[in-house]
Amino acid sequence: MKAVRKIELTIRQEQIIEIVKANGPITGEQIAEKLSLTRATLRPDLAILTMSGFLDARPRVGYFYTGKSGSQLSEKVNNVIVKEYQSIPVVVSESSSVYDAICTMFLEDVGTLFVVDAHASLVGILSRKDLLRASLGKQQLETMPVSIIMTRMPNITMCQEDDLIIVVAKRLIDKQIDALPVVRKFDAGSGFEVVGRITKTNITKLLVDLASDDLI
Ligand code: ADP
Repeated sequence: MKAVRKIELTIRQEQIIEIVKANGPITGEQIAEKLSLTRATLRPDLAILTMSGFLDARPRVGYFYTGKSGSQLSEKVNNVIVKEYQSIPVVVSESSSVYDAICTMFLEDVGTLFVVDAHASLVGILSRKDLLRASLGKQQLETMPVSIIMTRMPNITMCQEDDLIIVVAKRLIDKQIDALPVVRKFDAGSGFEVVGRITKTNITKLLVDLASDDLI
């Protein structure tokens, strides 16, 4: 994995953080005074430090130290695992008809279905457009099995419960897909059991939690 990008602070920005840590809440004017600089000179530095989360500013109170930093935020993101955000998977059998799969997609309100064989082992995946494409033809949807239109193993992108969610998010982007199954290898023999689902919605939820500080 790529190294976490840390925000590089200037010496002056480091000095400002130290001043606010020791004296906060403190006004911009007072910080400037301690550094023998003008308030205007400090404005860009204070903007960077508040935007990156090192400092917070309250009107008529001043600046105070949040105890957080850009790198701490990255650290949080880089520690979240799939298990904490996965949803319940929706599966259909490989002998199901395309018609039934479409009904399941509507009833379960999901955008991706996982296809399993008689041993509950993952064999395929169906997206909205896979089903739409099948509906465009003149074929009988009630008799057409999903197995002939699904994307099948071994071409399925999967993840496991203890994978880092940020790695899975990158996988969704790289492969240009909306969802992937969370799987566990069957104890005996080969094949994978589907235990969860990660979609772009789960990743969006993580983003919202980060913004509302639930993870910090
Ligand atoms: P849509 O087709 O509705 O835009 P996706 O972008 O998720 O939805 O799917 C694009 C194609 O990739 C479909 O043919 C689908 O079967 C396949 N696909 C979806 N998810 C996966 C996955 N996790 N692994 C492999 N192929 C997938």
